[in-house]
Amino acid sequence: MQRKKVRFYLCISLLLFVFLVFFSGCMTGRLSIPIGHIKHRAYPKADALLEALPAFQAREKASVKVYSAAQVQEWLRYGSKSSTYPHDKKIVFITVDDGPNAKHGMSMIETLRRYNVAATFFYIGGYLPKNENQVKLALEYGNSIGLHSDSHNYRYLYPGRSGNADAVIQDLKVLLQRYQAILGENVAFTVYRYPGGHMSWKNLGEADQRLANFGLTWLDWNVSTGDSVREDSLSVEVIMNNVRGTTERIGDKNVIVLLMHETKAATAEALPHIIEYYSGLGYEFGILDSPKGWHER
Ligand SMILES: [Zn+2]
Repeated sequence: MQRKKVRFYLCISLLLFVFLVFFSGCMTGRLSIPIGHIKHRAYPKADALLEALPAFQAREKASVKVYSAAQVQEWLRYGSKSSTYPHDKKIVFITVDDGPNAKHGMSMIETLRRYNVAATFFYIGGYLPKNENQVKLALEYGNSIGLHSDSHNYRYLYPGRSGNADAVIQDLKVLLQRYQAILGENVAFTVYRYPGGHMSWKNLGEADQRLANFGLTWLDWNVSTGDSVREDSLSVEVIMNNVRGTTERIGDKNVIVLLMHETKAATAEALPHIIEYYSGLGYEFGILDSPKGWHER
């Protein structure tokens, strides 16, 4: 009888022990699931993230350095003759034009985040209203944004290939209103990229001056992906050949402003190779100090 009692108590203790271990496991499991869930659900809400995190914190997450547009324009125009030219380091500015494009543009934002780098996006005003969250996310992940006109209409902005300052400024005002609606009244930009590039048009002096009155510096590029061609003639290989070719050809290689477009699938596909190519050559990644004031809403 005594032995049976001992066995009985032993069994009960064992069962209790197993039950306790199992129960505590469940509790940990139960606790961890909802916490993970909350984080996961909150993540894609760009509006909430934007208000929770100031821009500079997001920029600290990306391994990029921020440079003024005026500084980068000087480096592009005067190369190593500029007194501030970075002779001891190499910087590449990835610039992405003609978005927001919900498909390829978002894929590029993800790629940049995966590599912990950032780019400067030159969005077209007309595409902004349907892609407000993309604009916010791009900034939240530490990227920068420059202005690229509202209309992107060459005939309107440069009739007869000659700059019409009134049209450029009128178009700019519409663009700024669109951004204010998304990023708040205080948003201010520092960089403007002329559709087609400053280098492509005549008589832009007056427009340049009037852009400067808005605190804007224009910026072109010195290396191109060559992706402004028909989609069927583009591939990752073609893009990488263009990038390597133009990078090797330019004289002063320590500052590269690389032009690409987020309208092409092949460009989005080439972006990881581009990042790896420049990383391999010892470049650091830079973005332009723009916009300002958007996190101060
Ligand atoms: Zn463009």
